[in-house]
Amino acid sequence: MIAEVIVDIASSETDRIFEYLCDDDTVVGSRVRAPFGNTVLPGFVMKLKEKSEYPVHKLKKLYKTSDELAALTPECLRLANKMADRYKVPKALTLRLFLPSEMRTGKVRQLTKNYAELVGDIDIELPKTAKNQRGMVEFLKENGKTDCAYLNKAFPGAVNALLKKGFILVTKEQLRRDPYKLVEGEKLERTLTIDQARAVQSIENDSRIAQLLHGVTGSGKTEIYLTLIGRCLREGKSSIFLVPEISLTPQMLSQLRSRFGKNAAILHSGLSAGERFDEWWRLRTGEAKIAIGARSAIFAPLENLGVIIIDEEHDSSYFSESSPRYSTYDVALFRAKYNGCKLVLGSATPAVETYKKAQDGELNLIRLTKRINQRPLPEITIADMRREVRRGNNSTFSTALKEELECCLENGNQAILFLNRRGYSQSVICKECGYVAKCEACDVSLTYHKEEKCLKCHYCGAKYKMLTACPECGGYKLSYAGTGTQRIVDELQKLYPNARILRMDNDTTRGKEGHYKILKAFGEKRADILVGTQMIAKGHDFPSVTLVGILDADMGLHFSDYRSGERTFQLITQVAGRSGRAEEKGKVVLQTFSPENDVLRFAIAYDYEGFYKNEISRRAATAFPPFSKIVRVLVSGLDEQKTLEALKTVYFGLKDLYTDQTEKFLFFDKMHAPIKRIENKYRYQVLMRLAENSVLPTIYEICASARTRDVLISVEENPVNLS
Ligand code: ADP
Ligand code: ZN
Repeated sequence: MIAEVIVDIASSETDRIFEYLCDDDTVVGSRVRAPFGNTVLPGFVMKLKEKSEYPVHKLKKLYKTSDELAALTPECLRLANKMADRYKVPKALTLRLFLPSEMRTGKVRQLTKNYAELVGDIDIELPKTAKNQRGMVEFLKENGKTDCAYLNKAFPGAVNALLKKGFILVTKEQLRRDPYKLVEGEKLERTLTIDQARAVQSIENDSRIAQLLHGVTGSGKTEIYLTLIGRCLREGKSSIFLVPEISLTPQMLSQLRSRFGKNAAILHSGLSAGERFDEWWRLRTGEAKIAIGARSAIFAPLENLGVIIIDEEHDSSYFSESSPRYSTYDVALFRAKYNGCKLVLGSATPAVETYKKAQDGELNLIRLTKRINQRPLPEITIADMRREVRRGNNSTFSTALKEELECCLENGNQAILFLNRRGYSQSVICKECGYVAKCEACDVSLTYHKEEKCLKCHYCGAKYKMLTACPECGGYKLSYAGTGTQRIVDELQKLYPNARILRMDNDTTRGKEGHYKILKAFGEKRADILVGTQMIAKGHDFPSVTLVGILDADMGLHFSDYRSGERTFQLITQVAGRSGRAEEKGKVVLQTFSPENDVLRFAIAYDYEGFYKNEISRRAATAFPPFSKIVRVLVSGLDEQKTLEALKTVYFGLKDLYTDQTEKFLFFDKMHAPIKRIENKYRYQVLMRLAENSVLPTIYEICASARTRDVLISVEENPVNLS
């Protein structure tokens, strides 16, 4: 047999098919080791055939791997091919998406164990002197199949001797590393409420593939997902369940484990390499039928899918930020179509683009407008910070928030304070000459971190010594502008010396169980106040939280990004949704300098429809997505000259296209990226807004052909992050 193989190195010239000789039992999609030059490289069998155009004696022979099964299913291969074509990247790169990285590096292997048992129905005659062998035979008669490692210790030499004589049989069995020793939640099967049951029915009966579950926070969406997954499982079908950031949702994990036990496999970065590797194989072999994870779990090696669920579908983590920059929704839709199954998107605040699709009838829209048990949504009060300042309150906390906090603490309840800015203060400025402390490698200002007594760059992570005087003018009047979470904790502690305060942000959640520990401590009421960045907004269910403070609701509003209003609405709704989830009523205090802002007004009224109508007409009027597509080509490199040259090549290529088909473009220009340098890399961009998508493949082609070793050229569609 001849195998067509793709070798796993992602440089452009190697995305070629190489032919090898292989054994007859070789399977398409299997991993192989291919002799390449004078080394051996990992690769994949893409196709098998009888004849080659090359003379057979010139073909080298493939080595097999010890995999139980072909790593890639036919569906995976088809999807990998399609993505390579869509994003004009080497197949070697798209194939990688389907495997845990541990598998590629070859550092982790499957664990196997050998077991010995007696061959049935033969008379075993052994010399009296063969004590160990006789002992082992007796032992096996009594105990049956036994681990060889044990036998070798107990009866040295006997296993091999008996095997040679044909008296025993040795078999190899796969061992799986089990990441779930820790948590075993209680088994809670709930009866669905009428609304939940209706939603399940609507999803199952609707003929469309994609379903949008638009349910307010606390409306019981999770229970609907679990019901759908459970039903698939009973039919022998598999499921994929995506959440924005799995390390943030330990509650979800224990729910899934307790309900589905070993049928659920969890793919996330908190697992050890070996565990992740084994979880992946459990899915591939069908031992586990439910894959749970963040974005990348959409590539789970499952066959016979019954449902794909994307929870918090509006979350920006569903867009990949490295090549290929795929959209999880597109991949999910492909898989749902391939498997003939449903794709369920869930959110309290659907992305404007998704909601438009539902309005247009492309998606089935299911609404859950009430919280479980008719619990009210927390009331949101606006604290007008302009008025606070006028009254002489220059602190971070409004009078209203302080009053509510006191009340909350007095009643023994818990509060969450949200500020999307970590560190102590956002920048250090010299009041005399206007100097701003900046990172040497990036074009951004440094954040003061009081705990570590240093200045940090939030883009490259570099640390700098604290300034005692201005390096420009020598002045001592340094001001610390823009309050961050560390400072909030400091100020709170001064106001409430007895309150127990926890902080959750990127700085406090390093390490494998960083998030888990903080959330667990707060969940067990070992703290009264949790201060955090957007991490605390996601899906947490803390019954004792009755107050949420949004310290700076304006933060996101003033970005030039077309999605800033949408993001602010989503964030406020999500954070507010953490309050009053159990018996006691919840409250929210929202601090702002622009209380008359549309987005804020809709958010405090929980008026998604109103927000949507307003937003969609604004986008239609300005021809922004979903009425157009923004495409940014980012060109970045360490060498400014080479980067500029690459920019020129790309720009002229694109310019030809633009000149040729100007009517398809609403905007076309090249410029510096908003942040001109990150990690010493110079950054330029060609920014386009397309009236229609037909030029997209050509844009990708132009960029792919301009690729060089020293300069990174990436194409982003409707980028989530325009820095
Ligand atoms: P969402 O995901 O929509 O924000 P959750 O799934 O977290 O909502 O549900 C909110 C709360 O209601 C949770 O505490 C959950 O345990 C509870 N809950 C959900 N469904 C039911 C039900 N059918 N009966 C009783 N309680 C339920
Ligand atoms: Zn930096």
